Amino acid sequence: MMELLKCPFCGGEVEIAEHYFNTPYWKIKCSKPHCIGQFGWAFCDKEDAIAAWNRRIEPDELIEFRAKYQAVKKELDRINQIGRTASEAVDEQRELK
Ligand SMILES: [Zn+2]
Repeated sequence: MMELLKCPFCGGEVEIAEHYFNTPYWKIKCSKPHCIGQFGWAFCDKEDAIAAWNRRIEPDELIEFRAKYQAVKKELDRINQIGRTASEAVDEQRELK
């Protein structure tokens, strides 16, 4: 079973339950009764319900931050690789002496 993320509004635990109305369906909601995290949609498939609950919209700033982080990480990896290559060259020179 897919992992069920915590409530996006209060961070609390959530409940998934199977109900019946002619056919079975699944609903997910926050376990705290006064929290806004009461998901109104019903799904015939449990995995579809979990995937829908887990879907989160990220703020633009977070998307931008992730892109910058990835660019910096890529550059650091490149620099580290150059450092490693230079260090290996120095070691090779020492071995020749
Ligand atoms: Zn909640």
